[in-house]
Amino acid sequence: MDCSRCGERPSYYTRRYSGEALCAECFKETTVEKVTRTISKHGMLRRGDRVGVAVSGGKDSLSLLKILHEINGGPRPRWDLVALTVDEGVEGYRDEAIDHARAVCDELGVPMVLVSYSGLFGFSLDQALDWKDGREMSSCSICGVFRRRAIDEAAAKAKVDVVATAHNLDDHVQTFMMNLLHGDVERLEWAEHSPSDEFPIRRVKPLTEVYEEEVALYAYLSKIPFQSTSCPYMHEGLRSEVRDYLNELEANHPGIKNVLLNSSSEVTSKLSSARQAARGTRDRATVPCERCGKPSSKGVCGVCRVTEIVRQHSKYTGR
Ligand code: SF4
Ligand code: ZN
Repeated sequence: MDCSRCGERPSYYTRRYSGEALCAECFKETTVEKVTRTISKHGMLRRGDRVGVAVSGGKDSLSLLKILHEINGGPRPRWDLVALTVDEGVEGYRDEAIDHARAVCDELGVPMVLVSYSGLFGFSLDQALDWKDGREMSSCSICGVFRRRAIDEAAAKAKVDVVATAHNLDDHVQTFMMNLLHGDVERLEWAEHSPSDEFPIRRVKPLTEVYEEEVALYAYLSKIPFQSTSCPYMHEGLRSEVRDYLNELEANHPGIKNVLLNSSSEVTSKLSSARQAARGTRDRATVPCERCGKPSSKGVCGVCRVTEIVRQHSKYTGR
């Protein structure tokens, strides 16, 4: 069968939710077009913005960098792109990803700002997670608290106006479902792409409307290097069950993830308007952390609280 878009090349991939059967070239072009539409529909990026792309070196973040670079091509670039990379300090895992990230940045001519947990917090993730007993938090929850701060620090260092992260449609709907299943209604608004007040710099998720499967295919067709190992601390628990469940639903009802994405956007925006009206102010109040002075929703920020827990348990040097 010929591609339903160009009618010239043989079709390579069928989008079951739309019925399009696309050749490899048209698949890549329509993916870039979809991201362009998402960016303009939500006003994510403005002409002249210095955009920090959070690049871990995995397929999603390198695809995002490549897509933004492509949209930016042509005689009048819209944005100034810079990659923000965090070295968590995981032996045998992070180095490979950073090498991939550096290679793609070099190829595209995008500068990279690299920060590390060791440099920022005084310990690597390996050192912070050298204890296992009696954990109240999962490895990824501990890591995530430091990573958000690390991205903010890299963003400040690179003087960016906005940070773009590579969360795709599957990440978005999984997080929405997880928050519902955990009864974590307070966190539902986190799934939004509007800026969050706890983060000093605006954050956007340009891949929000692209299925994970399609990001992976884009990466493959664009010859983006794949990382061979996964993080040794990754523990997904409920998330992998939610992922399997949503994939099964999608197989039986093509497009259902799109419907869930739209529902989650509606729910979160209604919820956050209701909260703002109740508070009589647009912004969630933040106060400076009592220890480090960074913006925090409570007296002591998450990073300082988790650092305290790590200090109590881990044997890392400097304790
Ligand atoms: Fe951190 Fe978890 Fe990602 Fe590993 S998988 S880098 S622990 S968030
Ligand atoms: Zn703090």
